[in-house]
Amino acid sequence: MDACVKTNQMLLLKLGISPGPIDGVMGDLTEAAIAKGLALPDRTPEHAQSHGGKGFVLNERSVGNTRGVHPDLINVFFEAAKSSPHEFIITEGLRTVERQKELVAKGFSKTMNSRHIKAKNGLGHAMDLALIKNGKVDWKDLAAYDELGLHIKRVAKQLGVPIKWGGDWSWKDRPHYQLRWRNYPGT
Ligand SMILES: [Zn+2]
Repeated sequence: MDACVKTNQMLLLKLGISPGPIDGVMGDLTEAAIAKGLALPDRTPEHAQSHGGKGFVLNERSVGNTRGVHPDLINVFFEAAKSSPHEFIITEGLRTVERQKELVAKGFSKTMNSRHIKAKNGLGHAMDLALIKNGKVDWKDLAAYDELGLHIKRVAKQLGVPIKWGGDWSWKDRPHYQLRWRNYPGT
């Protein structure tokens, strides 16, 4: 059983594409479904309309960046996107220890105890997003990042998935979301 394949199979279900049985095995059905998933448009106009102009479907790059992340956190982001006040992409999920060391050395991260790093259960427990404004990544509109934080926390609560948002920390990390240690120790 491959956890990544299983996660991707669950992702495909979220996209409304059947991968066949969720068995963690990369069979013909899963491969065919992934091929279809990659051809999906970034945004479905009908969906956005049904949410009063809000909401979108996470694009191919975002889906790829969720690889190896705990399915509960992925689920929160897929659900949040459907009714989001702003468009966003997922920029990073699972991180290697080497990359984390590099980020700490550069001052971009404060800790080696990051939830991006693969835990004992083989999964990552954190994801970062970037706001998309007028089709481009925007790091400056902090108000929009705060609106996303409120929105995503609300959706997580509805789904019963305890998360922490980096925007609530004293060292603000607005793009960052992670599963709560207490509920998801990663062991
Ligand atoms: Zn992060």
